[in-house]
Amino acid sequence: MPPFLPPQISGNPSAVWSEQQDACTLCGETRACTASGRDRRGNPLHTVLCYGCGLIRQSPLPSFDGQKQYYSGLYRLEYRGAPQPSPRHIFRNSRAACERLPWLRQALPSPGPVLDVGSGSGEFLRLLARLGYEAAGIEPDPNYAAFARNKLQVPVYTGVLEETSLPERHFACVTSFHVIEHVPDPAAFLARLRALVRPGGRLVLETPDVESPFPRGHRRFHRAHLHFFSLDTLVRCAAAAGWKTLKWGRSWDGGNLFLVAEESDSIAPASEGPLGPAALQRFRAAMRASSYYGSPLFLPRLGRQLAARMREWRAAKASDPEQILLRAITLHRDSLPTLR
Ligand SMILES: [Zn+2]
Repeated sequence: MPPFLPPQISGNPSAVWSEQQDACTLCGETRACTASGRDRRGNPLHTVLCYGCGLIRQSPLPSFDGQKQYYSGLYRLEYRGAPQPSPRHIFRNSRAACERLPWLRQALPSPGPVLDVGSGSGEFLRLLARLGYEAAGIEPDPNYAAFARNKLQVPVYTGVLEETSLPERHFACVTSFHVIEHVPDPAAFLARLRALVRPGGRLVLETPDVESPFPRGHRRFHRAHLHFFSLDTLVRCAAAAGWKTLKWGRSWDGGNLFLVAEESDSIAPASEGPLGPAALQRFRAAMRASSYYGSPLFLPRLGRQLAARMREWRAAKASDPEQILLRAITLHRDSLPTLR
């Protein structure tokens, strides 16, 4: 096992491992136990933790066609409350783009063709264009894809990865931020990304860490998220799709995982299992109210969230997306290279 993976906790917590209707998409195991019965809004949502590899998934998973329809419009309406990004969200996305840039620069020290999968309203692509990268995106929501093309002048394909024709073996790096948790078969998704990069090409991923104390308890579950990753299951999923992890890290509060990986010829088994019992113990520890309220980051996190909301409120007074992006860049100017 690679040395950067978390230690395995010994012991077997009491859990009811039972046969499920569907098998784990990562390791094929059918035994699992219930991780949670509700989502962040308190609505019913059945998630299970796999006995074989520890990956948490919705059970049963929705159909591909149902998912495609959901992401072609309903998702953003439900999540953001509007079919187009508001100035407040453009600012928030622009700040996230600035914070993600160092991960891309670690993966790809000099500019090369980059594909951003799930590019949303295009702020990250616009930032890359200003830095001289040849960058393109794929976005299933036609309103967000059109916004990126028309307002930020970045090339974005409208559609889902599985149905979009892209040049094979072309990109130096693919990036995908907060997408892998939405796809029905994450290993197949990562294998598709691998086919798009050059030999030795790189991958940068960001996804919520299901073993973080943040957000609190069941608030980490969202019906749009089909899989919920820990560092362990994310690295295993990448390895099963032919990606060798080079670096990993977390957001400052530990809520999100980042992974930098390199295209590799070796495909690793998803589980040397059973890994579920130890994963369940770590997950249950993260879900405890004491882990959330007792974290030394609890108050700093609240303070930063409040400050971020105030900055978003001020930034929302501007209407031009490029100006809003520049405001976010100004806040990060010390950590960003010279922009065009
Ligand atoms: Zn599994």
